[in-house]
Amino acid sequence: MAEIIPFDARDGTIWLNGELVAWRDATLHVLSHGLHYASCVFEGERAYGGKVFKLTEHSQRLIDSGKLLGFDVPYTAAELDAATRAVIAENGAPDCYVRPVAWRGSEQMGVSAQKSKINVAIASWEWGAYYSDLTLTRALYQRPAPNTAPVKSKAAGLYMICTICKHAAEAKGFGDALMLDYRGYLAETTGANIFLVIDGAIHTPTPDCFLDGITRRTVIELAKKRGYEVIERHIMPEELDQAQEIFVTGTAAEVTPVRAIDDRHYQVGAVTGQLIDDFRALTRTLAATA
Ligand code: PMP
Repeated sequence: MAEIIPFDARDGTIWLNGELVAWRDATLHVLSHGLHYASCVFEGERAYGGKVFKLTEHSQRLIDSGKLLGFDVPYTAAELDAATRAVIAENGAPDCYVRPVAWRGSEQMGVSAQKSKINVAIASWEWGAYYSDLTLTRALYQRPAPNTAPVKSKAAGLYMICTICKHAAEAKGFGDALMLDYRGYLAETTGANIFLVIDGAIHTPTPDCFLDGITRRTVIELAKKRGYEVIERHIMPEELDQAQEIFVTGTAAEVTPVRAIDDRHYQVGAVTGQLIDDFRALTRTLAATA
């Protein structure tokens, strides 16, 4: 296994509350509300040739996620876009992953923290393929119902169940967990949306209690452009038996074929291959634009 270099022991530049600071100086106090009470939202973005794919959509989603947790990110989407570009330029890797994060600070401890400052940081680093030869297993937990959590927010707290599920899947030798929703329908993995190819048509769960991913929406557009029928609907886990191909989408995952789900095995078929190519072409075009 590759040696782990902790994220706090790296070098580079991080944008923190309006300023570019040295990577190792981008610290926060242990008594930060975001740490104790998960009053924290984040984004995951990818830059190709120095340009973030769908940058403004990501910046806006950070702001919207904060609103769902009851706080205002103190920057506009345009300001976040500019800050992101500055960080990427400063760190010098044109193909990188970008992590914006916004959290309540250390002004107040306790469930109520109305007067806490909202902090924002943006970091970028080189990060290759998220999944390789992806296999999934049924997750330990289900996605919570929309009346039990702000499910449309990319809120740090919602990832607590994702990490537990992913660790449990890894312990069983799988790459990730496949989460069902609170009704028992297929939902997503712990970090990507899922698609099933059944007899040439593309089926994907209706995103009514989980993130309607930016990559998901892009891939649906690409598939429709190719003339594929795309059906968004509630999908029962038993329907995995009828699928000939399965793939997942996400900023980190891009378009990744799923090779197995528990004891079901899948080929990397023509539809998945086409969409991998189309998504790659799209991001390559972005990289090539001035
Ligand atoms: N679901 C979850 C739980 C995720 O973490 C992500 C990654 N942000 C996605 C779906 C895919 O979203 P996007 O395509 O916007 O990255």
